[in-house]
Amino acid sequence: MKTPSHDAKAQQFETRAIHAGQEPDAANGAVMTPVYFTSTYKQDAPARPRGGYEYSRTSNPTRTALQENLASLESAAWGMCFSSGLAATNALLDRLVPGDHVVAGNDLYGGTYRIFRRVFERYGVTFSFVDTTKKALVKAAMTPKTRYLYIESPTNPLLSITDVSAMAAIAHDAGAHLVVDNTFATPYLQQPLTLGADLVLHSLTKYLGGHSDVVCGALVGNDAGLQSELAFFQNAVGGTPGPMDCFLVLRGTKTLAVRMDRHCQNAMRVARHLEGHSKVARVYYPGLKQHPQHALARRQMKDFGGMVSFELRGGLKAANACATRTKLFTLAESLGGVESLIETPCSMTHASIPPADRRAAGLEDGLVRLSVGIEHVDDLIADLDQAMR
Ligand SMILES: *Cc1c(COP(=O)(O)O)cnc(C)c1O
Repeated sequence: MKTPSHDAKAQQFETRAIHAGQEPDAANGAVMTPVYFTSTYKQDAPARPRGGYEYSRTSNPTRTALQENLASLESAAWGMCFSSGLAATNALLDRLVPGDHVVAGNDLYGGTYRIFRRVFERYGVTFSFVDTTKKALVKAAMTPKTRYLYIESPTNPLLSITDVSAMAAIAHDAGAHLVVDNTFATPYLQQPLTLGADLVLHSLTKYLGGHSDVVCGALVGNDAGLQSELAFFQNAVGGTPGPMDCFLVLRGTKTLAVRMDRHCQNAMRVARHLEGHSKVARVYYPGLKQHPQHALARRQMKDFGGMVSFELRGGLKAANACATRTKLFTLAESLGGVESLIETPCSMTHASIPPADRRAAGLEDGLVRLSVGIEHVDDLIADLDQAMR
């Protein structure tokens, strides 16, 4: 274990992003955390590993550095990394047994919905999907078998905001854990554990990696019992990231704060511009005053994030045409990189949700989702204008 030379807990977010978990290497002073490309470690005697490391599925020093960094950013006691965000979701669900129940938001990442319905329902775990902006609905869905209340805020792609503290109270009253997928907000904008959540999940592939060059995931939390249970499944199932992936995410988290500031600024400008555009029927951005949970977003988040969704008046045809014609916004799935991306959720990221369920959740065919990057905002707005013309 490396010992930080100063009171790391008292430091500001920007400082911890660069230093937490990353003391210069004890062996040779390397300032950047080395990429420990090794599967195994020399033991001094049988079953007596030297530095606590035995085998890299179980643990690896580059991964440890990232786990400590993420724990610090989320104000958590521990962090645990996985080969993808969905591998982290899988580890959570591995704790459950047939008959267990999960209450989840009805506007989730498509892959989360898919692992719930198409993988874990087959093992006898049951799921209820509710609009988590409505507390009474969430309360009514909880049963004595409910183990998790699983939410996203802001949601993907409609960017509605759920009251994390209220959800924590409902989950705890029912004897369940509150899990918050904090991928869209990032710990820079929102720290769910400080609002009462038990576990935070991340797709590190998005803003934390920040450069669209790595797939990785994480869970963070405070409870030591949950940590050891989840670490068992992390090692037993084996969905762990390689050291290079961990290095790339560590490089990303160092600049998270400055990147997020610019993502938020640009997204606000783009949202305001779209709001006044004749071809746009509706804009979804929590930073806009007409957003139904704007006040809650203001209370719960430091800023409103880099994701903007909007509905074009011309429906699916107009959405597809717009997404095909942009030149700076690349037509692609994923989000959270420095470059701007555009996609049409109903034919892309959310296509795995049956059309009837999609419509019930308010996902209209004319929906376009933007991951607003950190290019100059005037260029981004000009690109959208020419694509909608
Ligand atoms: C991408 C994403 C995931 C899944 O993460 P992967 O790294 O792609 O497995 C989960 N939740 C949200 C909100 C996401 O955007």
